[in-house]
Amino acid sequence: MYKAPRGTFDILPQEQAYWKYVEGKVAFLCQLYGYQPLSTPIFEDSELFTHAVAGGTDLVDKEMYTFEDRKGQKLALRAEGTAPVCRAYLEHGLFNLAQPVKLYYIGPAFRYERPQAGRYRQHHQFGFEAIGSADPALDAEVIEMAQRFFFSLGLSQFSINLNSIGCKLCQPKYVEALQEHYSDYTEQLCPDCKVRLVRNPLRLLDCKKASCQKIAETAPKTVNYLCPECQAHFQSVQKYLGALGITFQLNHRLVRGLDYYTRTVFEIEPQEEGTQQSALGGGGRYDNLIEELGGKPTPAVGFAAGIERLILNLKRQKIAVPSLPTPAAFIACLGEEAKIEAAKLASALRKNGIAVIEATGDKSLKAQLRQANALGAIYTIIIGKQEMENRTIILRDMRNGEQKAIPQTEIITALKQGETA
Ligand code: AMP
Repeated sequence: MYKAPRGTFDILPQEQAYWKYVEGKVAFLCQLYGYQPLSTPIFEDSELFTHAVAGGTDLVDKEMYTFEDRKGQKLALRAEGTAPVCRAYLEHGLFNLAQPVKLYYIGPAFRYERPQAGRYRQHHQFGFEAIGSADPALDAEVIEMAQRFFFSLGLSQFSINLNSIGCKLCQPKYVEALQEHYSDYTEQLCPDCKVRLVRNPLRLLDCKKASCQKIAETAPKTVNYLCPECQAHFQSVQKYLGALGITFQLNHRLVRGLDYYTRTVFEIEPQEEGTQQSALGGGGRYDNLIEELGGKPTPAVGFAAGIERLILNLKRQKIAVPSLPTPAAFIACLGEEAKIEAAKLASALRKNGIAVIEATGDKSLKAQLRQANALGAIYTIIIGKQEMENRTIILRDMRNGEQKAIPQTEIITALKQGETA
């Protein structure tokens, strides 16, 4: 028997109500803030990710799904959402539009991680990106939008962590100070952090090992190394957040897992958990990425959230989501001729926009009613020999079991009235 690959799963019909709920909130939110949808391919040139996210990150070093196509071109399954959006922005000349260009996406991302609750090898991300403005007001708007998204879903028990990691000018000085701090503890570092210390020191701060976290606690803070421009930007972001009434916590160890971030970084964490895979979403500025990918210097800011984790939290917080629509009617029939009549009736009802499901095979009426119930049909239409002769049907209201005979010509009106009752 084949199984879905480790770290992936099927989203069965009974789970889909959660997905539709989240997708509906996404569409509404993005419309509210003026973001337009963008869909990018599931796979990209693998260099897009290695270049954008950079070596020394877990994503590039250990987690990408790369493969060669039949012509030997190196491709990678989408590892994250921002780099493809920037690629599309450049490829389609979106820099010619009024800036910032505001785009959003929703789709799968693939990472070879150790599967556990809330961490999968295929997960789905909703993200939005505002490209072409360095205005700190936009950072605050993006954070506000992320917060509104969680509120709109009914999630309220989360906190917003905020930090600034500076720019090309000031970050190197900070990294130097960080290396100096860590060099006193080289022996105590985990094997990964020993490599990070040389290859990508910023990543030292988000190591999940308890012994490394202890060393991170006393590490120098990025905010103390910001250049005057980055400092002013960060102050301004906080001022806007204050004006918008958004509560946040400064977290000096927040650096985010990908290398393209500059200045503002933020993460949304559920309150009751302290586990490493608990971040519901995160984002920040990436002012150098478009240039890195071959464009003109173009500041940008964005956010992404994992949908599986959102749904886990919706369930954990017992938030009810609307169920998916059920059929207006199930058509039960008794006998071969009635079945033909049922097929004709189903076709006519669907032509009128009424969702129906017909019985198949030759089950007993009891079994057919059971099936109608299981499908959540509001009504069952019963057609037997007598109904065929009288050109009537029996309409059974599945909500209370009441039933009555009505002329066939009145079915559409009766169903339409019943649906809204
Ligand atoms: P990132 O691109 O790493 O910033 O991830 C954005 C969001 O996607 C995270 O905050 C999580 O909610 C979610 N996420 C990231 N990796 C995974 C994963 N392996 N499984 C499930 N969700 C994930």
